[in-house]
Amino acid sequence: MEEVHVRPVGLGPLETMLPTPRVERFLAAAKRARAVFGDRTVWHVNATAHGGGVAELLQTLLAYANGAGVENRWLVLDAEPRFFALTKRLHNMLHGEPGDGGPLGDDEHALYEDVLRTNLADLAGRVSARDIVVLHDPQTAGLAAGLRATGALVVWRCHVGRDHPNAVSEAAWAFLRGYVEQAHAFVFTRNAYVPDWARTGLVAIIPPSIDPLSVKNMPLSPGQVHAVLAQVGLVSGGDPDGGISFVRRDGTTGALRPHWRTGGLLVDDGPPPPSAPLVVQVSRWDRLKDMAGVMEGFARAVDDDGLDGVELMLAGPEVSGVADDPEGAEVLGECREAWRRLPPVVRRRVHLVTVPMDDPDENALVVNALQRHAAVVVQKSLVEGFGLTVTEAMWKARPVVASRLGGIQDQITDGRDGLLLQDPQDLDDFATVLRRPLADAGLAARLGAAAHARVLGEYLGDRHLEQYVDLLAALAS
Ligand code: UDP
Repeated sequence: MEEVHVRPVGLGPLETMLPTPRVERFLAAAKRARAVFGDRTVWHVNATAHGGGVAELLQTLLAYANGAGVENRWLVLDAEPRFFALTKRLHNMLHGEPGDGGPLGDDEHALYEDVLRTNLADLAGRVSARDIVVLHDPQTAGLAAGLRATGALVVWRCHVGRDHPNAVSEAAWAFLRGYVEQAHAFVFTRNAYVPDWARTGLVAIIPPSIDPLSVKNMPLSPGQVHAVLAQVGLVSGGDPDGGISFVRRDGTTGALRPHWRTGGLLVDDGPPPPSAPLVVQVSRWDRLKDMAGVMEGFARAVDDDGLDGVELMLAGPEVSGVADDPEGAEVLGECREAWRRLPPVVRRRVHLVTVPMDDPDENALVVNALQRHAAVVVQKSLVEGFGLTVTEAMWKARPVVASRLGGIQDQITDGRDGLLLQDPQDLDDFATVLRRPLADAGLAARLGAAAHARVLGEYLGDRHLEQYVDLLAALAS
């Protein structure tokens, strides 16, 4: 298994952003963590080191937890593509969607158990009986029983879910339950996601958080935003060799590569001018993010009212970049097809972008600049456990238009700190809602300011760390 090293982050500069009572609570949580854990290690196991919300969340949580003085370590499963095809099916099905429609029978159980048996042998050589292991998502659920047998305390944290179970989600739970009910505690993002059988044990509801000081979210001036986007070719003009550098999470310095080496625009006649108001969605290439639907909805908005000068940019990771997401290439191909079907007058205002993941901090810098440059950020997902992209854009004071479902309902209060789509499949409604912040600068500014305040209040690392320490303390007592 590969180990990902996360550099500790102390309260440091975050202290200047937080009111004094929150600083005091943060310090108290850190002290409690050290008292409870002493020399125990907390291990996290997930399916990918880069790309997607779980890897992003672990970077933030582990940086603060290590900064608080508790040893947290992160291991990534070693698995073959067939395994990830199966676990992506389970992921889709937990969301109530059939995914590739494949079976969950004896052969799938055998494959799942085989891969996890090898990983368990590796883990058993590292984890001591005094340690705590936090397993993330369906990919790791089958490690619970074997780890429990070593004497370690086992938590399963599930980042996906569905507000109202359906036959498809129940079938996925039937596959997983026998493995995962061996865990000592469970963490879900929303109360509605907790299956009834898990409620008899220790359950915590903990939404993710973002780190306002990470490369993904750190402040950038308008000049820096423009320089980054121009260098990677996402807006026109600028110096392709602008010599932009950045400090990586591990403390080393990176240099932003010019656009012919950083992926960039896939299918259009050239980047938008820097002055064009940009509608942006940043997502993995996953059907449930409905990038194709965003294009169609944008086309409808253009058709209705022209949206003078507004352009659309859909950005995602280079498809080889997210190890546990085998559908990426196929979905990106579908998006290119959907782009080709757009009327030419719309097509030249729609940009598909892939951003390399080989240097995750460079990727984060580009995403940061793109989110800050956006006139409106959209997240038109068809399901969403919790949309980190939504919170990232809100932190950057962007007006966000997002689907009223899953965790997004908790993240945005409609009309106050963002705008919600009642039915994300309704493209006319999408077009109507999208036009509102584009046409009304005052509304856009009010939503953006309220969005930033909301994230400051509820979605930073101190709240997350406190809930995490509470859970682990309850488990260890
Ligand atoms: N992301 C990224 N680069 C990309 C696409 C996505 O860094 O090219 C990040 C995005 O900024 C966010 C995470 O991946 O931090 C996606 O998390 P989210 O919860 O929105 O969706 P998930 O991928 O977990 O379904």
